Amino acid sequence: MSKFWSSRVKDLVPYVPGEQPKIANLVKLNTNENPFGPSPRVIEAINTELNDNLRLYPDPESEALKSTIANYYGVQGEQVFLGNGSDEVLAHIFYGLFQHGEPVLYPDITYSFYPVYCGLYNIEGKTVPLTDSFEIDPKDYKQPNGGIIFPNPNAPTGRYLALDKVEAIVAANPDRVVVVDEAYVDFGGESAIKLVGKYPNLLVCQTLSKARSLAGLRVGFAIGSPEVIEALNRVKNSFNSYPLDRLAQAGAIAAFEDEDWFKATCEGVVGERGWVTSKLEALGFDVLPSKANFILARHPDHAGEALAKGLREQGVIVRHFNKPRISDFLRITIGTADQNKRLVECLKPLV
Ligand SMILES: *Cc1c(COP(=O)(O)O)cnc(C)c1O
Repeated sequence: MSKFWSSRVKDLVPYVPGEQPKIANLVKLNTNENPFGPSPRVIEAINTELNDNLRLYPDPESEALKSTIANYYGVQGEQVFLGNGSDEVLAHIFYGLFQHGEPVLYPDITYSFYPVYCGLYNIEGKTVPLTDSFEIDPKDYKQPNGGIIFPNPNAPTGRYLALDKVEAIVAANPDRVVVVDEAYVDFGGESAIKLVGKYPNLLVCQTLSKARSLAGLRVGFAIGSPEVIEALNRVKNSFNSYPLDRLAQAGAIAAFEDEDWFKATCEGVVGERGWVTSKLEALGFDVLPSKANFILARHPDHAGEALAKGLREQGVIVRHFNKPRISDFLRITIGTADQNKRLVECLKPLV
């Protein structure tokens, strides 16, 4: 604490990201990055953009990227909002769409940035418990609220909610914005983007950090009705006119233009997810069904924290959340075949 801090700052509870250790030969399975890396065409596009134009501001509206994304998903440009990672998009959503004097609803086990944004903007958050099998039940979201947000697949459970159930939540709350955070949808889920034409209160948020292997480029986007997108544009242009730099805009366009690479890397993750799941089950783990690029698993005889520590001593880093209901679990990002083999080998002596 310091006398220079505003009173708001001293009460903030910031998000704590998974660590990015600077250790060689680490098997890093703790922050859900994609192990297969971005398309070579992304690197090429960024290299082409590395020139004297860097002295000029980028396009503040990222029009070329916006229309690439609009075409890719079959929507209009005015239905697309872009941000510096989807975390920034989410921040603008909380500020611009969730301040209605009623609590914002999200699952009790979910992305831990949601309560942080509530704290930042002084919004009341209300957690809605997942079922005993860690699923979202749409009927729990029929209650007064200032907005609703959940990831699908959910994080850190990996559990996927079928599209008809997502639609039930959206349809039951026509006067509030329902945000579906689809950071992991490309690893086997079905996107709710196809429903945005039908529901002006539906906003779908996605990122290039996971399925498109570009966590380091910081590009996220939201797709919804023009009236909802306009709110986000107003917030963005009151905060930072240039959230996406030139390199990010060029690289992100190239990522959407290399569909073969995208499909192959997603399929690679899905295949490895099946392998890791079966190996862990053979070691006695309970593994929640996942449609994400990570799994949440627990061993009946070994505490999650002890397992995470034991793995770490062998150079394998996974995520353990010291939180109610999931403190027994490990969240393990799916890695390359070699990384996953090492994970399994390092778990054997621990169980
Ligand atoms: C990773 C993640 C994000 C953030 O993605 P960025 O675009 O890298 O900011 C948002 N929501 C969920 C659920 C995530 O897991």
